[in-house]
Amino acid sequence: MNKIFTLAAASLLLVSCSQKPKTAAEPTEPATITWIEDKPGPSFQDHRIFPNVPDSLWEALGLQDGVPSSISCFLLKADGETILLDAGLGAPFSQALPKLQELGVNPDSLKLVYITHMHGDHIGGLLKEGEKVFPNAELWINSVEANAWAAMETDNANLPKAVLEAYKDNLHLFEAGDTLAGGVKTIAAYGHTPGHTVFQKDSILVIADLLHGAALQLEHPEYCPAFDMDQEAATEARLRILKYARENKLTMFGMHLPSPGYIE
Ligand SMILES: [Zn+2]
Repeated sequence: MNKIFTLAAASLLLVSCSQKPKTAAEPTEPATITWIEDKPGPSFQDHRIFPNVPDSLWEALGLQDGVPSSISCFLLKADGETILLDAGLGAPFSQALPKLQELGVNPDSLKLVYITHMHGDHIGGLLKEGEKVFPNAELWINSVEANAWAAMETDNANLPKAVLEAYKDNLHLFEAGDTLAGGVKTIAAYGHTPGHTVFQKDSILVIADLLHGAALQLEHPEYCPAFDMDQEAATEARLRILKYARENKLTMFGMHLPSPGYIE
C-alpha cells in the first residue's frame, strides 16, 4: 500500500481564516503527498558512501548493516494540480510507472513534473530509450541546476543533457524562491548539486537529497555523502533547512528516506 500523508485540514483552515476570509470558490482540499518507492526496498547505504565517518561512530549508531535508505519519488496533489516530484531511476526494476498507474496517473495524462536536482536516480525515469516518458508534462527545473549540468563536460552530465534536450519544448526554468503551480514554494538547498532545490507546500517539505542517510545525518548533519558535490555548501544547506523544518513544524519527505518516506 502506498502511504498517503494528509495535512491537518482543520488547523490549516484556522490559520487561513485568521488571516483572510475564504470565499466559497477557493480550494479547501488539503494537499496530499504519496510516497512512491522506485527501487524495490529495503535499501541500505554502506559506509563507503560516508567515507569521513569514523568506524567508532558508525558502529555506535548501529549502522553495521548500512544506513536504511530508499530510492523514491513523490506524487503531490495540491490546489487541483497533480505533480510528480522527481522521476526515479528508470531502471528495469523501477516501480515508479506502475505505482503511478495504481494512483490513476498514466504517463500521457501527467501534466507537471518538478525536479529537485539532476542526478540519475531522480531524472532517469524521465526518459526511455532517449524518448520522453511523460510526453505531455511540463518539466520544471531550477535554472542554476539546468545551466550547471548543461555546461559540464563530465560523463555524468550526459543524462541531464539528454533530458534537457528531450524536454526542451516543455522545459521551464525557475529561480529559487519562485512559487510554482499548486502553490509549491521552491527553496535553494545548493551543495548536493549546484542547484539542488527543496519544495514546500504548507507543512509538507520535500527535502530531496538533503538527508542522504537520515539515521546518520539527523544527528550528525556535518557528515556528507560522497555524492554531495560541494560539501561545505551542502552542510550549510542541511543545517539551515533542518532548522527551518523544526521551527515551522514541517514534515520532511525525502527521496532517500527509508519507509514510510517521511520524518515528522
Ligand atoms: Zn539521490
